Amino acid sequence: MQPALERAKGKATPVIEQFLAETQTWEPERLEAWRWGELNKLLSWAVVQVPFYRRWFQEKGVTPQEIAAARDLGPLPIITKQMIQAAPEDFRAAAPPEGSYAKSTGGTLGQPLHFLVNPMSDQWRMAVSRRGYAWAGCVPGRKQVHLWSGDLAPLSWKAGLKRGLHRLLQSQRFVDYYRMLGPKEVRAAMEAIDSFGPDCLVAYPSGAETLARQALEMGWRPRKPLVSVLTGAERLLPHQRQLIEQGLGCPAFETYGSREFMLMASECPAHQGLHVSAENVILEVDAPRGQVGELLVTDLHNYAQPFIRYRGGDLASWLEGPCPCGRSLPRLAGVEGRVMDAIRTPDGGRLTGLFFPHLLKDYPAIAQYQIVQPSLDSLVVRLVLREALTAEQEQAILSAVQKALPGVRPRIEPVEEIETTPSGKVRITIGLGNT
Ligand SMILES: [Zn+2]
Repeated sequence: MQPALERAKGKATPVIEQFLAETQTWEPERLEAWRWGELNKLLSWAVVQVPFYRRWFQEKGVTPQEIAAARDLGPLPIITKQMIQAAPEDFRAAAPPEGSYAKSTGGTLGQPLHFLVNPMSDQWRMAVSRRGYAWAGCVPGRKQVHLWSGDLAPLSWKAGLKRGLHRLLQSQRFVDYYRMLGPKEVRAAMEAIDSFGPDCLVAYPSGAETLARQALEMGWRPRKPLVSVLTGAERLLPHQRQLIEQGLGCPAFETYGSREFMLMASECPAHQGLHVSAENVILEVDAPRGQVGELLVTDLHNYAQPFIRYRGGDLASWLEGPCPCGRSLPRLAGVEGRVMDAIRTPDGGRLTGLFFPHLLKDYPAIAQYQIVQPSLDSLVVRLVLREALTAEQEQAILSAVQKALPGVRPRIEPVEEIETTPSGKVRITIGLGNT
């Protein structure tokens, strides 16, 4: 029903979906040639339409064709959220494609970013999302329950009605929650799952983890077995994956996306890294091959506001070699977290967010935690405790931290609760960022 509706409205998603079903197993060279062709089209548009790029290409005396032919984005400038915020018109098409509309990021970590998206880009985003979900067994027609944070601002009745209809057509049901899942939200989620009978559950890792833990404690299992759990918005940590798979009785699939670009990478059934939606985005890792670095994103189809080498603030690394699933799309080893969240040492070292979940998961007394670095040489480990830690346990935690972060003085601070961001995310670590 859904594809027929879209064809009726003149949308291209089904055509793109068919194309993506083929390109995922193309020879790498064939896919690369196609992608650089798409980049050439985007740059050729940007040089005419976007003031920032018109100036840059003029100053450098380079042409879009030369960049695309060399298959190297390196010479192009890296752009940031701050640059776009400082001069929004500089980064938008002077005459955006018809039907382009404004979107914004949540702005939970500072100022929201306002940007434009054209309808064709929307179709590409929709098509790569559907493919990524399909890898997890979440194919059209299968029912989904989304366990997600609610809207921050109430929708108008018209927007609410439109979204309600859309969700009905997509066989989706949403359980909104604003903060961490409390007992009430967990019950609501279990009831929604039992009454609606979804095949797939879409959730934050922390939300799915809480549900899985409760399920194990209560001996609850979905009335109809789940096919998969898809996680997004936060990294899926190894112990969370284990708990989710055990508690909800199905495999978990990690996805990576953002408000600016939607789905950028997702897991296939091999569960070995995340395949990039390479037909829609070019991702670069700003570090030597194999090392963790900042991700730079180029969106190949957003002509209303071209994002080219955009520094989004996420850390990741590449996974080499072919995937056993046979898809040729490049793979990220995983998204390691936000640059803002990395903990740094006085000698220039950087500890990504994986360390603390790994260290603290073995203490059942710890209900929740958050690590804050107020200065380069100090660190606060905030703990919500079910019961007090013994002196030995405290010492073991502090020694492990000191060993991993030479020159940093850690201390433990018991707290009543850990604040979540307005969208319901938990920031495990709050680092110094790039300052
Ligand atoms: Zn694969």
